[in-house]
Amino acid sequence: MPNMPAGSVWRELGLNIESAARRLHAQAQTAQEEKDQVAAILESMAEGVAVIDTNQRVLLVNSVLGRAFGLDKDETAGRYYWEVFRDLKINEMIEKALSGRIALRKEHAMMLSGAVYQIQISPVLSEGGIHGVVAVFYDVSKLKELERTRSEFIANVSHELKTPLTSILGYVETLKEGGIEDARNRGRFLEIIEKQAAKLHELIEDLMLLSKVESGRQELKKEALDLEKLLNSVLSSFERAIAAKKIRVQVDVHPRPFFIQADLETMDQAFSNLTDNAVKYNEPDGEILFTAWQEPECMKIRVRNSGRGIPPDDLPRIFERFYRVDKSRSKESGGSGLGLSIVKHIIERHAGRIEVESPGQRGASFTITLPKS
Ligand code: ADP
Repeated sequence: MPNMPAGSVWRELGLNIESAARRLHAQAQTAQEEKDQVAAILESMAEGVAVIDTNQRVLLVNSVLGRAFGLDKDETAGRYYWEVFRDLKINEMIEKALSGRIALRKEHAMMLSGAVYQIQISPVLSEGGIHGVVAVFYDVSKLKELERTRSEFIANVSHELKTPLTSILGYVETLKEGGIEDARNRGRFLEIIEKQAAKLHELIEDLMLLSKVESGRQELKKEALDLEKLLNSVLSSFERAIAAKKIRVQVDVHPRPFFIQADLETMDQAFSNLTDNAVKYNEPDGEILFTAWQEPECMKIRVRNSGRGIPPDDLPRIFERFYRVDKSRSKESGGSGLGLSIVKHIIERHAGRIEVESPGQRGASFTITLPKS
């Protein structure tokens, strides 16, 4: 600028400095915005995230990880990762990823909380080398629990199917090996086979029913049902069993008629299962009482029966699939152990709940709460 007047030189310089300052300011602002964006993304993630640099210091942990590991986000920044995590397995993984510049993935159960994490550690690499590692923690505890329940269920089903089948096969073998000529015992063998086959049939039917109500595949056709009519129709199919045990039955509902908004087929099933138990676990000359009443917010239906009742320790587990109080005794009377879990699912699908009581083990009482229609 040799020919430029001195004033314009200074003005030009001033303008350049001003625009450089503006650019710098804009760059700083963009950098801050990008940093805020990254922080916002990390905070909105469902997974726990930690970033560790090559000096083995924690750069950041997001809130999810902070909560899961009881870490104070501000106190962890800048500390060594092994001071922060205090878990041998996790620290080994970070060390390996940092020194080997490799990605690692492992499932790890935490000793204290019992939570199970799928941990993914990836190195942050560029041409200049490694900058650190990012560790992502997926909480897979619920998934693990589901897996466990499923395999437990399969094991239970297999066991339940195997018991009657083994017995059937055993008696068929006995008959084949000459038992058929044994006029005195063959009738008894056949009766056992028939009984076990009926048990298998009942178990399979119950399993199919449970899967139908549990999956929600079955559509409920809710309509106004006259409860007293429904109970009497259920009771009619237990007439013989009730008469055989000389059980007194009473139905006492208020007001009359008592309407519930429910699906006929499934509600009939629920009351059939409850009645079946009320007869099965009753004693001769016992009684069964059905009551129903309205409350300000809901309606209640109770099925109470005399008999040996249910021990307090078993009460919380009574609605579990295959749970029986006394395995040998109820096996004899032929229950699949699925009846009450079917009832529970049916009632819950009607937005209700079912509770059980057995005060002093003098009989059992099942109370259903249904929303007011
Ligand atoms: P099960 O097919 O064995 O009857 P349930 O699921 O219907 O299966 O019931 C589970 C267990 O709860 C039964 O095995 C029995 O021990 C107990 N139980 C259910 N209902 C009654 C009742 N009314 N009185 C006493 N015990 C009962």
